[in-house]
Amino acid sequence: MSCVFCRIVAGEIPATFVHQDDDVVAFRDTTPTAPVHVLVVPRRHVANVLDLAHADGDLGLSARLFAAVARVARAEGLDAPDRGFRLITNTGPEGGQSVDHLHLHVIGGRRLTWPAG
Ligand code: AMP
Repeated sequence: MSCVFCRIVAGEIPATFVHQDDDVVAFRDTTPTAPVHVLVVPRRHVANVLDLAHADGDLGLSARLFAAVARVARAEGLDAPDRGFRLITNTGPEGGQSVDHLHLHVIGGRRLTWPAG
C-alpha cells in the first residue's frame, strides 16, 4: 500500500488523531501552517474531490466529511464568534495537491489572509 493516508488509516503510520468514525478520520498535519491544522480524510481511498463528486454513492460520504469538519472545528474551539477557520481541499498539480488521497485541511487559530497564494 503506497498511499500515505491509506497507511495512516490502516494504522501503519502514526498520526495524532482528533476524530475517528466509521467512514472518516481526522489527524493533525505534520507540517502545520497555523496553530490548528487538521486533515479530514475518508477511510476509503478517493483520489480527490473530482472522484468523490463522480459517484452518486459518495454523496453520503461528502456529508460525513463535512460533519467531521464541523466536529473538529468545534473541538478545536474554532466555532467561537470571534474565531473561524479555513477549509481547503487542494486538487491536482496546479491546485497544490501533494497527497493523492482526498483530504480537507481545517486551518485556524490565527487570523488568515486572503487571497490564498
Ligand atoms: P496537500 O499538499 O494539499 O496534498 O496536503 C497534504 C498535507 O499532508 C500536507 O499539508 C502535509 O504536511 C501533510 N502530510 C503529509 N504526510 C503526512 C503525515 N504522515 N501525517 C500528517 N500529515 C501529513
